[in-house]
Amino acid sequence: MCGIVGYIGKNEAEPILLDGLRRLEYRGYDSAGISVINGKKIETVKAVGKIAELEEKLSKKDVKGNIGIAHTRWATHGKPCEKNSHPHSDCKGDIFLVHNGIIENYQELKDDLKKLGHKFKSETDSEVVAHLIEDLMKKYDFKTAVAKTLKMLKGTYGFAIVSKSEPEKLIIARNGSPLLLGIGKDEYVVASDASAIIRHTKRVVYLEDGEMAVLEKDGYEISSMHEKIIKNREESEIDWSIEEAEKQGFDHFMIKEIFEQPQAVTDAVRGRINVSDGNAKLGGLRDVSKELREIERIIIVSCGTSYYAGLVGEYMIEEYAGIPVEVEYASEFRYRKPIIDSKTAVIAISQSGETADTLAAIREAKNKGALTLGIVNAVGSTIARETDAGVYNHAGPEIGVASTKAFTSQLSILVLFALFLGRQRNMSLVTGQRIAKELEKLPKLIEEVLKQNDDIKKIMKKYSKYRDFLYLGRKYNMPIAYEGALKIKEISYVHAEGYPSGEMKHGPIALIDENFPVVVLAPKDSVYEKTISGIEEVKARGGKILAIGTKGDKNIAKISDDVIYVPKTLEMLSPIVNVVPLQLLSYYAGTLKGIDVDKPRNLAKSVTVE
Ligand code: GLU
Repeated sequence: MCGIVGYIGKNEAEPILLDGLRRLEYRGYDSAGISVINGKKIETVKAVGKIAELEEKLSKKDVKGNIGIAHTRWATHGKPCEKNSHPHSDCKGDIFLVHNGIIENYQELKDDLKKLGHKFKSETDSEVVAHLIEDLMKKYDFKTAVAKTLKMLKGTYGFAIVSKSEPEKLIIARNGSPLLLGIGKDEYVVASDASAIIRHTKRVVYLEDGEMAVLEKDGYEISSMHEKIIKNREESEIDWSIEEAEKQGFDHFMIKEIFEQPQAVTDAVRGRINVSDGNAKLGGLRDVSKELREIERIIIVSCGTSYYAGLVGEYMIEEYAGIPVEVEYASEFRYRKPIIDSKTAVIAISQSGETADTLAAIREAKNKGALTLGIVNAVGSTIARETDAGVYNHAGPEIGVASTKAFTSQLSILVLFALFLGRQRNMSLVTGQRIAKELEKLPKLIEEVLKQNDDIKKIMKKYSKYRDFLYLGRKYNMPIAYEGALKIKEISYVHAEGYPSGEMKHGPIALIDENFPVVVLAPKDSVYEKTISGIEEVKARGGKILAIGTKGDKNIAKISDDVIYVPKTLEMLSPIVNVVPLQLLSYYAGTLKGIDVDKPRNLAKSVTVE
């Protein structure tokens, strides 16, 4: 969450920082700011709102210099306003820093600093850090002062810091918030994610928790906050291109990513299906395949949309591999006392691989002796590195705040997991072959749904006057009802509830009237008749029905007000097809209201704070 960019090199810093911020804007957009060192001066410009506001202000100034830092904020402490925007500085305006994360002990530190005479300008937790460094710089050099400051902090951070007294340096540090060091030709670009770096270089170093780096124009040095120098840190290569992080003619990243799903699913399963063996080939699990044969239980930990992917995964793995699965909100798992042993595998699902709650859950599971696995999109991210093994999505960057292609990609990988684990156990060759074959057909089926884009837009127009929606689904499609409701909430700010169809009569049915439309997932599956009964119950109470039905099902059209037809596939795979019209409905619900669906209010991509 929140975007950090830093630059040091031979070029003008301002345009590079600004371009980086634009690319990171999806991580936070309450306010933004920039500081650039020019000789012995540091020029800082901040603005509330989107990056465009900052750009406008900067266009009236002439900010010069080759070293700078920048930030786009997702407020945790203090409302979004100019004085709370980053970069923050010390009393004298000598030290400037940008921060991603939360300093949990900031209040005590602030009280102590106030007693020492420090004057604060903002309500943020971040500002205390600038004052701590200021205090320590009375005795120490910049680097030592930063290292000593870091030791006093509790919480999570990614920092980029500059100081007037050592104006040739840029210091960065990380603990729990992602930070990458991009290594260009005679320049370094630092950022909280790769999209701000990729234009300049593909060579990166992932800073580890508890580490800092001092960058100068002609080199960098990584050390631990305990001031131990770390030599020969391995460099990695970013595996996607700048084009993938651009809209390419689409109005929004969200719609571009919805349309990329046939490709995302293809890439998720490419080279990973063996139809003749009816099995999945998951290179990332090779090293733990023996342990996986022995496991007796699986816990899936995740948040938001990934949590719903986990719920579908539970149905798949239990049905086809016969292993008991629990799905847990990572934010709950980390604070309760989960019962875990060496026969438990814990799977983390996270698009960014940096989700703070999921990361903490996986660390907890590891401590307790579980085998930890990841389903992660961002290559080299913290969860990917800290789990024992895992499978990458290879979905390319997902920029839209509301997850779409990452979700269908996660589901496809969960099918592969179910196949792999199932074939290690009791799944027959024929069953395995049937799933593998159908899985290969999915991209085509998603394309068929996408062809109905215009019709789905028309349907949403009809429904756009409603303020509340109920989404119902059963069995494999219950989590899809949850996801559909979440998506429309996120993107169009209407109230929606996702419910298991069978549960409706135990409560939410009381809400049904002509102003409360119900979106029902009603594929021709093993629970079709039950779903139809649920629809009848809604109709009997004057409710409106928008159904997602299976192509060729005439009956559903008779009892629904509107139907979106999707092609038939295996029941276990149907969520991957059925979610697509729900994504499109949300997209149009938002855009018809004029909402910037790539940056819905109060949200941000990749939640790296608790
Ligand atoms: N906690 C800091 C603030 O509220 C940083 C938030 C962020 O990561 O954007 O300003």
